[in-house]
Amino acid sequence: MTHIAIIGGGIAGLATAFYLQKKSGETGTPIDYTLIESETRLGGKIVTEIADDFVVEGGADSFLTMKPGGVQLCRDLGLEDRLIPTNDHKRNVFVLRKGKLIPFPGGYRLTVPTEFIPFALSPLISPLGKLRMGLDLIIPPRKETGDESLASFIRRRLGEEALDKIAGPIMAGIYTADPERLSMQSAFPQFSAMERQHGSLIKAMQRAKKMRPPSGGNSKPPAMFTSLQGGMKELVDTLTNRLEGELCLGCRVASLSAQSPGFEITLDTGGQPITADAVILAVPAYVAANLMESVDAQLTEALKKIRHVSTANISLGYRRADVADQHDFNGFGFMVPKSENRQILACTWSSTKFDYRASADDILMRVFVGGDGKEHLVDLSDEELLKLAQAEIADIMGVTAPPVLHRVFRWINGNPQYDVGHLDRVSEIEKLAGKISGLHFTGSAFRGIGIPDCITSAQSTADQVLENC
Ligand SMILES: Cc1cc2nc3c(=O)[nH]c(=O)nc-3n(C[C@H](O)[C@H](O)[C@H](O)COP(=O)(O)OP(=O)(O)OC[C@H]3O[C@@H](n4cnc5c(N)ncnc54)[C@H](O)[C@@H]3O)c2cc1C
Repeated sequence: MTHIAIIGGGIAGLATAFYLQKKSGETGTPIDYTLIESETRLGGKIVTEIADDFVVEGGADSFLTMKPGGVQLCRDLGLEDRLIPTNDHKRNVFVLRKGKLIPFPGGYRLTVPTEFIPFALSPLISPLGKLRMGLDLIIPPRKETGDESLASFIRRRLGEEALDKIAGPIMAGIYTADPERLSMQSAFPQFSAMERQHGSLIKAMQRAKKMRPPSGGNSKPPAMFTSLQGGMKELVDTLTNRLEGELCLGCRVASLSAQSPGFEITLDTGGQPITADAVILAVPAYVAANLMESVDAQLTEALKKIRHVSTANISLGYRRADVADQHDFNGFGFMVPKSENRQILACTWSSTKFDYRASADDILMRVFVGGDGKEHLVDLSDEELLKLAQAEIADIMGVTAPPVLHRVFRWINGNPQYDVGHLDRVSEIEKLAGKISGLHFTGSAFRGIGIPDCITSAQSTADQVLENC
């Protein structure tokens, strides 16, 4: 029987274990596995805390429905009935401009205007900025084929203002990244492809809109994001309950050595090393780099090149009656462009975005800080972060009532950065790993940070491992 060690019990490690188990059962391939997690809980960057009537997300709060991995896993776990959509009838998103919250104009798909009227009427972009965005229609496509940064791409096609007010907070915001460093090829390859194929983003979007089949009858398109009624933790708990392999919690892998064949894994809790025929590393790249030190120096160096940055978020719960005359919370929240020089990056109005996040009498929101260039804020104490969040919310939203609940979550080196050239670095890592029989990498550091990406990567890792059994 082939024994597989999975290091890391975030969604990538858990989903790998689940699909290894499922697919080995389906193909009759005899395997067993040990999943090793350094924390005493599973889920990694998925953590939900239920406090009073609040469902507080410390990490991911939802996932994209457009990418199949997340919804597929929920289906495989029988969780389909527990999925909840975003409340799209309240889908306003705001962008801070000169201290005021301006609605993000309808008809935008991420960055590019697809409908003329809301774009022309929006006060978010100045008239000159709008004219500059319109030049996208005549600016020739880039001749070079290599990677470039999000900032370079948007500046070139749509201008500086679109970069500051839209692409920076919204597109780079998804990656908690500096747009000057974020790789177009890794993060938004579809936009580069649009430029290549249509010569203009606006033309490409308009064509795509025309090609879309008319929505028949009363059928609404599915919400772009979904979550689970009891919070994202429900996914982790259900997944964990279905795992039949050995789960080693509170066990940090201290070192890994290649035994040709197989591997030996030493835990910092001591005891006998764990031996395995194959090892799947589902940990941040810098952890993988440390563990590779005694296996392959080149691989260690390649893994070290993937940067990670730190962020924190502060959830604030209020009695609705205390804030009702201060703000209407009519939307999913707001984003903050760099040029506003604020301490916070964004704020989600969680109890508007999803049902089941607070009772009808309460409001829940979440404020984000840190990221590239602002990591020092993550070092503030909980009290200081709470004060900072409250001060910003008072200034921007006029909410001065004291919260009845607050929770602070920190993600130290928790956000992998897909810098320009990322895909080449990942290919190099995969090439080097391919030379060591039984060694696999999966998870958010490589080919997609979103939960569906991590699950899809877990599925293909499971396939690769089983192919070699
Ligand atoms: C604040 C925040 C909000 C987010 N929001 C969303 C969202 O709404 N939607 C979305 O799709 N994505 C979101 N993401 C991204 C997504 O949550 C992550 O990319 C994904 O959960 C990462 O999963 P993973 O398994 O690759 O890594 P992780 O979750 O980091 O798991 C790695 C695991 O390895 C363990 N580990 C580390 N070192 C060792 C060791 N030496 N030995 C054993 N175990 C070890 C860690 O404890 C951890 O549990 C968000 C991320 C953050 C930080």
